[in-house]
Amino acid sequence: MTSTVYFTPVSERTSVSAVQQISKALLDTLVSAEQIELRQKIPLKVHFGEPKNVTFIRPDNYQGIIDYLAERGVESCFMETSVLYGGQRYKKELHAQTAKKHGFTQLPIVFADGEHGEAFADVAINQKHFKTFKVGQAFLDYDQMIVLSHFKGHMLAGFGGAIKQLSMGYAAKGGKLAMHMGEKPHIKNRRCTQCKKCLSCCNVDALRIGEGKSGRSWIEKEKCVGCGACVAICPSKAVSLFTLKSVARFLGIGNPFVEKLVEGAYAARKHQHNIYITFAMSISAGCDCEARKMKPVMADMGVFAATDPVAIDKACFDMAEALGKKFRRAKKTFSYAEEIGLGSCDYQLKRIDAPSFSDAVDAGM
Ligand code: SF4
Ligand code: SF4
Repeated sequence: MTSTVYFTPVSERTSVSAVQQISKALLDTLVSAEQIELRQKIPLKVHFGEPKNVTFIRPDNYQGIIDYLAERGVESCFMETSVLYGGQRYKKELHAQTAKKHGFTQLPIVFADGEHGEAFADVAINQKHFKTFKVGQAFLDYDQMIVLSHFKGHMLAGFGGAIKQLSMGYAAKGGKLAMHMGEKPHIKNRRCTQCKKCLSCCNVDALRIGEGKSGRSWIEKEKCVGCGACVAICPSKAVSLFTLKSVARFLGIGNPFVEKLVEGAYAARKHQHNIYITFAMSISAGCDCEARKMKPVMADMGVFAATDPVAIDKACFDMAEALGKKFRRAKKTFSYAEEIGLGSCDYQLKRIDAPSFSDAVDAGM
């Protein structure tokens, strides 16, 4: 099946207000052309950017999309999950502060995986690596989202766009843990103060704190479902994910990360009929999760819109390649995504020119 990807070019000289108009017009075009029935409530899946990162997509770029929904009486919010470990986005409280500092104040914010990753749903997918996959619970309250992605490089995935935003972006801590490491956490007794804060977040009673003759703390591996909530809640950093094996897996050694990423996206999209809008601007070598200042590695390309997460990523990837920038690991991502039915690599790029927004099927890129 051929998917249509709508695209308007932008450059570093394009103003933020022009980007707002472009993304609003692209959304309007997509909704009309694909006859999308908008729901009463449509959250925006975003990434708030790690502190010190300067290349994440700033929220003022999304104002046109926010206005479009408001004009149609659609209720919205920003929706996100917290990261696995470390940084300023690993639990709701800190993550919300980061979002506010980065200017995400136009809409209410919902953390789909709760305070520290305890709110998740196991979505049955029955795929090669995952029979079920843990996504943030609140995503299941909606059957339509607008998934806003930043096209850029990514250390493990090779590149990040709609597939990564769906997969890693929807995953609760347990989903991220399974994708990255495939291991359950353990307690470092030299750090554990036996404060018992972690007990409140474990839904399966797997934590043993100061028990037995030894008075030590441990996690019952048979009970633990690997949700990762105790990692985030522990004030003493006593719950660790890291073993030699898990670190190797985190670095992609002996871990089919790309296939797992695609399966995570499949789980996330399973109950949803989403709209994907990707901003291929400030294209950095690394992810928006990286707490460092990066420079763009290529010129801005534009804003893309589609209903197919695979087609929109393929269109971004192909355009970058045509402009001389090849991101790694894409072949496997796209072939596996097609194989399990996440979407189609076969797409037609339809260019919507700014500012007149006259339709023209793109022939040059
Ligand atoms: S929260 Fe951390 S320090 Fe407190 S009991 Fe649990 S593992 Fe130990
Ligand atoms: S012990 Fe396992 S199941 Fe319990 S909170 Fe920690 S990671 Fe989750």
